[in-house]
Amino acid sequence: MDLISGFVRIRPHARPGDPAPVADHVVPFLRGGCPEVFPGWPASEGVYDGPHSATVCPACLPQRRLTADIEEPYLYTHPHTRTHAPYEPLTYLVGSTPAHGVDLDLVTVLDEAGFTRAGWLPLPGLEDTYVWDHPVDHTRVILHATGLEFHLHHRHTGQRFHTRLGPRFGPMQLREVLAEGGYQTGEKDPDSTPGATGTGPHPALPAGGRLLTPTEAAHLITTGDHPGAAQGSLAFNAALIEALHTGRIVAACMPDGTLTFTHGHLG
Ligand SMILES: [Zn+2]
Repeated sequence: MDLISGFVRIRPHARPGDPAPVADHVVPFLRGGCPEVFPGWPASEGVYDGPHSATVCPACLPQRRLTADIEEPYLYTHPHTRTHAPYEPLTYLVGSTPAHGVDLDLVTVLDEAGFTRAGWLPLPGLEDTYVWDHPVDHTRVILHATGLEFHLHHRHTGQRFHTRLGPRFGPMQLREVLAEGGYQTGEKDPDSTPGATGTGPHPALPAGGRLLTPTEAAHLITTGDHPGAAQGSLAFNAALIEALHTGRIVAACMPDGTLTFTHGHLG
């Protein structure tokens, strides 16, 4: 990251016929030139796909000015004067743009979780990127052509994690991923039990397990879509589902697909 000597603000020109405007944004400015490869380029910034794409340098500045208003770069006078914390996005939105063409549920849930800075932001190597930044936590959610990417950190441990949902997902899956990052969203799944969603990992959740909502777990049990299905019986499954819905137990899905159950703590 020491290659970065400052930042530059880009205000893309509106192009007639564009369904949605690209948001004003800031990208790194590299006084010494955009490099062929950028070691350590973070995944939350897209893919560093060569010089003069994700970054701006004196050589590509005139070309960039043909399609955008670009202010004079803000330069660090000395590396120690940099005000950019290491975990803050390098390419970031300035303000927001309308979420034309973005699913309203998605917009609502992310807004509730505090991802209030949102807009069409060009990130190299990713197509059609709509980005939500959390202005306080400096975490990011990216919607692009092949799904939704989360660059979050666990609220309690601070540990960063990166996860994604494919192109088809429901609000419930979205809330679960956000809950893993400690984000609470306003609307609760009517089937969920208090303490089972919205407050981060369940204290009794086994390491590596993903917390399931009662509805999800019941679905897996009734359809037998898990490796331990052969060991169940109708009566046993019915008892499990009953216990899930009343919150006496919570279910987690382990990385190998098996279900585990722990006693629910309902606070
Ligand atoms: Zn350049």
